[in-house]
Amino acid sequence: MADQALYRKWRPAAFDEVVGQEHVVQTIRHALASGRTAHAYLFSGPRGTGKTSTARLVAKALNCTHPDPAQRPDNTCRNCVAVNEGRFLDLIEIDAASNTGVDNIRDLRDKINFSPSEGQYKVYIIDEVHMLSMGAFNALLKTLEEPPPHAVFILATTETHKVPATVLSRCQRHNFRRIPTAEMVARLQSIVSREGLQVEPAVLDVLARQATGSMRDAISLLDQLAASPDEMVTLDATLKVLGTAGGQAAQDLAEALAEQDAARGMDAINALMDDGVDSRQFARQMVDYLRGLMLVRMGNARLVDAGAETMKAMQQQAGRFEVGALLRAIKAFNAAANDSRSGWLAQLPLELAFVDSLRGDPDPASRVETPPIRKAAASPAAPMATASPPGAPPPANRPPGVVQLGQVASNWNDVVAASRRVHPNLPALLAACQPLGVEGDVVTLGFRNEVLRSKADGEQNRQGIEQSLGQVLGAALHVKCVLHSAEAVQLPDVDSDGPVAEAFRLGGRPRK
Ligand SMILES: [Zn+2]
Repeated sequence: MADQALYRKWRPAAFDEVVGQEHVVQTIRHALASGRTAHAYLFSGPRGTGKTSTARLVAKALNCTHPDPAQRPDNTCRNCVAVNEGRFLDLIEIDAASNTGVDNIRDLRDKINFSPSEGQYKVYIIDEVHMLSMGAFNALLKTLEEPPPHAVFILATTETHKVPATVLSRCQRHNFRRIPTAEMVARLQSIVSREGLQVEPAVLDVLARQATGSMRDAISLLDQLAASPDEMVTLDATLKVLGTAGGQAAQDLAEALAEQDAARGMDAINALMDDGVDSRQFARQMVDYLRGLMLVRMGNARLVDAGAETMKAMQQQAGRFEVGALLRAIKAFNAAANDSRSGWLAQLPLELAFVDSLRGDPDPASRVETPPIRKAAASPAAPMATASPPGAPPPANRPPGVVQLGQVASNWNDVVAASRRVHPNLPALLAACQPLGVEGDVVTLGFRNEVLRSKADGEQNRQGIEQSLGQVLGAALHVKCVLHSAEAVQLPDVDSDGPVAEAFRLGGRPRK
C-alpha cells in the first residue's frame, strides 16, 4: 500500500501548526475561547494557504470535549480523534467544484435541522464555494439566513468576487495570505527532520519559491522528490525535475546586466535553455530578483522575500543599478514572462528582454535620434553601442561571434529602416523574412518562399542586406538566405499593396 501523501499526513492538527496565517488564527482562537463564534465564515485566499485545514480545526475545536475552551482542539478526546481519522459524522465537507455540489446543498437544507449525532455542532465546510450554481447559492442563502443554533458554515474560496454579495454579507470574512518563503522553508524543514528525509538545505528554498505561497504545493513537491528516504535529495536533481533555474542563475544574469556585458548575458541565457529551464518561468524568476534589487535600492529591503544569502548578493548588486534601469529591466522580463508566442525559439523572449534592459539610454526620444543609417565603410555605430557607458566611443567592428541572434532580432526594425537608404526595395524583402540564427559572422535569414529567397540572395540585394545589418549592429556580417517553413514562422500577411507584393513587383531589380 502506498504511503499517505505527505501533505495529508502533515496537515496541521492544531492551530499552532497553521503556517503564515497568524492574523486569522489569533482571531478565531480568541472567539473559540470566549465562546463567541459566528454561524458562518468565509475563508478566502490563494490555493494551498490553509483554508480547509483551518476550517477543519474550527470544526474540531467546536466539538472538542476538553473542559478548557482555550485548549481545544486537544486531539485526544473522542471527537477530536474521530475528526482526525475522517469519520466524524457532524463534519460535512462539500466540494462545490464537483458535480454533486447542488445535490449536496439540497441535501444540506433537508437535513440541517436534525441535531448533531456525535458532537455539539454540525459543521459544514463548503470548499470552492464560488463554483456553486445560482440555484445552489439561493438554497444556501436560505439556510444562512436562519441557521439552526447547532449549525456552523465555513465557506472557502479562491475567488471571493464570484461569491454573491448576499452570501458574503452573512459571513464573517477572513483573508488567507500567501505564505512567506521563510515560513514555508521552516515548515518544510520540520517535516524533513520528522520524516527522517535527507535533503540538501538549498532544496527547501527552491521548493518554497516554486510553490509561490502554497504550502500544499511545497509539501507535494517535497513528496515527489523524496521518493526514497535513503536517497539524498540534491539541489541539482531538484532543479532538473522542476525545470527551473537555481537562484544563482538570476543573480548571474543580473551581474551581466550590471556589467553591461551582452555576450555574457546571452551565453548565460542559452546555457539555461540547454539545461532545460523553462524560459517563461526563468523570466518570472528574473522579475522577482530584479524587483528585489529595486526594493533594496530604494531602501525597502524588509519587503524582499529572500533568504540571507540572496539578500547579501542583492545588497551587493543593488547599488550598481539606477532605479530607472531596474524598472526597465523588470518591465522587459515581465513582458518575456507573459510572451507565449515564441515556441519556435524558446530563448528569444529572454534574449530580447536582456538586450532591452541593456539599453542605457532612459530617454526614448534621444534614442530615435541615434542615426542607424551610416555608411558601413565609414564608422559603424549602432544602437547596441548604448550598452557602453554614455560618452564612450562607438565600438569598432565586432569580432565574429559577438553579435547574437537576440540582438539581430531586437534591432530588426532598425535594420529594415536602414535598408531603405541602401536600396528602396530592400525593406519589402526584409519585412518578409525572419532572422533565424547567427553562426560566427553569418546571419541566417528565413524566407517562406523560394521566389523571395532567391531575390534576397541575388548578389546586389544580399550585399545591401549585409550593409544594413552592419550599420545597425556595428559588425561586418554575412547573410545566408534559406527557405523556412511558413508554419514555423509568423510572417506578415500578404496583401496586394503590402511590402511582399511590392517586392514581387520590383522583381529585385535596382530602381533608377
Ligand atoms: Zn478534543
